Amino acid sequence: MREDLAAATIDLLFGSSCVGCLEPGRALCGRCQRALVRRPSRTWPSPCPAGLPAVFATTLYDDVARAAVVAHKEEGRLSLAQPLGRALSWAVLAALAEVPRSRITAVAVVPVPSARRTVRDRGHDPLLRMSRRAVVELRRAGVAAELRPCLRVVRPVADQGGLSAHARALNLEHAFAVRRRPPASPVVVVDDVMTTGATLVEAARASRECGLDVIGSAVVAATARRLPHRFGDT
Ligand SMILES: [Zn+2]
Repeated sequence: MREDLAAATIDLLFGSSCVGCLEPGRALCGRCQRALVRRPSRTWPSPCPAGLPAVFATTLYDDVARAAVVAHKEEGRLSLAQPLGRALSWAVLAALAEVPRSRITAVAVVPVPSARRTVRDRGHDPLLRMSRRAVVELRRAGVAAELRPCLRVVRPVADQGGLSAHARALNLEHAFAVRRRPPASPVVVVDDVMTTGATLVEAARASRECGLDVIGSAVVAATARRLPHRFGDT
């Protein structure tokens, strides 16, 4: 509750306008929320890296998605965790729908880890906050989901921005490890945005190395130029 209050206060300080269309009001208006949460689709980057689990995204990383992710992550618009978390929960549901029901009684939502320094510099952990909201939404949908942030960054990594797909993969090779009590349930690895897939590959590798059953991955958005198809109502 304290977090919700803080988020509302920050919205007020920002004059509370929609980050997607700048209309006065909530941090994300109804129309932009609908643009964010579309029908989730299976997606993959091109080239598709080896070891990438099946990835589901709710939208393209364009206009509204980019504005919401950046404002939440970099500008402290914490109330955006709710619509972003809801979008993430839809992507997780899509990932679960691909798995035979007999295999799933519960699911562990495992966020990709951020370096401790990154979290400290930002003053918050945006993906963890979104993932927490996503788990709330999943439970509302009747899924026995639990948040299990068990992955850690275990060696220094460079900023991924501006790196090629190959350089990103090398940058993250063996950078993650399971450092907290691993979940017994099947795992869906989650992130906010997929670009080359390198982060999800490394998160899945580290999870599998620890014996976790990675059944898929879910992101809010995937970058447009790497998508072979349109998102939307099709
Ligand atoms: Zn809007």
